[in-house]
Amino acid sequence: VEQFRVSVVGSGNWGSVAAKLVASNTIGHPFFHDEVRMWVFEEVLPCGEKLSDAINRTNENVKYLNGVKLGKNVVADPDLENAVREANMLVFVTPHQFMEGICKRLGGKIRSDAEGISLIKGMEVKKEGPCMISKLITDMLGINCCVLMGANIANEARIAFEKFSEATIGYKHSKEVAQRWAKLFSQSYFLVSAVQDIEGVELCGTLKNVVAIAAGLVDGLDMGNNTKAAIMRIGLREMRALSKRLFSSVKDSTFFESCGVADVITTCLGGRNRRVAEAFARTGGKKSFNELEEELLQGQKLQGVSTAKEVYDVLSHRGWQGLFPLLTTVHKICIGLLPPSAIVEYSEHAPNFS
Ligand code: NAD
Ligand code: 13P
Repeated sequence: VEQFRVSVVGSGNWGSVAAKLVASNTIGHPFFHDEVRMWVFEEVLPCGEKLSDAINRTNENVKYLNGVKLGKNVVADPDLENAVREANMLVFVTPHQFMEGICKRLGGKIRSDAEGISLIKGMEVKKEGPCMISKLITDMLGINCCVLMGANIANEARIAFEKFSEATIGYKHSKEVAQRWAKLFSQSYFLVSAVQDIEGVELCGTLKNVVAIAAGLVDGLDMGNNTKAAIMRIGLREMRALSKRLFSSVKDSTFFESCGVADVITTCLGGRNRRVAEAFARTGGKKSFNELEEELLQGQKLQGVSTAKEVYDVLSHRGWQGLFPLLTTVHKICIGLLPPSAIVEYSEHAPNFS
């Protein structure tokens, strides 16, 4: 019987944790091939060494997850086509803005029997409306694609420390395939559940990055925990209302899974979107999000600012801005149209969704 072969497309902060987690499960497992290939967007480190060479030499992603051994069965590969050639389980985990270009390069280069899973929080906006990344992958590569989202800040989730966290798999049709993905990712300290609501799960992961920007602004304005909790609640409510308007199949129960309320909480407390938004508010908007991203994250990428724009495009196309004051206001603050303090003034006037 052929074993399942896994490749991870992406090797940032979460990509490296995902590769480590998966590799700890494939090793010695009769079901899976030991080796996990991890595609690395190549760059040269200040010392002159290529990142992929450094990862293979040290077994650590020295730039994006320094100090954590990935497992000897993780092989860093800077050649995208080569990295995916043999895999029939493809884990996609890059910042969302790069996925369309990656899919273009992968067209016709992957196995026809491959299954995909996206750990990517974000979406693209097309003429026809929002296109979730799992759908982009399915449409461009012709493969089925599940999603895995949840309250998983990579730096904390460092599997090396085996701290307990949870995640949610969203699937469209096949429970069997979702269970295979759950088997690949599950550990006693990493509990994965599967729900048949792919759009709901993916929209939770995507929209909470915008809510985390709002929470960071509140932190930067020193408004305290009551205000921050109010912003998180209003944000979660807008997330649910927008998701249900976009996809009538989205279930309320999904917002109580790890991908929903739990990811809102962890990202609003400890995420990168929160951190950069706090700095933005503290500098009074004098430095742009782009500058602060580069300064504070050193190569890691913010998803919330571009997602806020994508969400705004969807809302304005449909004339829904007034219904979603928090999501709308975050975008206007990010582009300098409104001051950071507007996040509270405008969100106070949120409508009551039934
Ligand atoms: P990251 O932000 O840590 O790193 C950025 C990555 O982008 C690096 O691997 C870099 O090499 C790569 N990159 C830069 N330019 C590129 C280009 N032109 N083409 C392709 N790749 C390029 O990445 P991450 O944290 O692994 O994030 C990936 C996804 O995972 C995102 O959607 C994010 O929202 C999601 N996520 C992140 C976390 C987390 O805590 N970091 C947790 C859950 C989900
Ligand atoms: P940040 O990108 O804001 O760190 O969020 C990471 C995340 O998605 C946690 O689940």
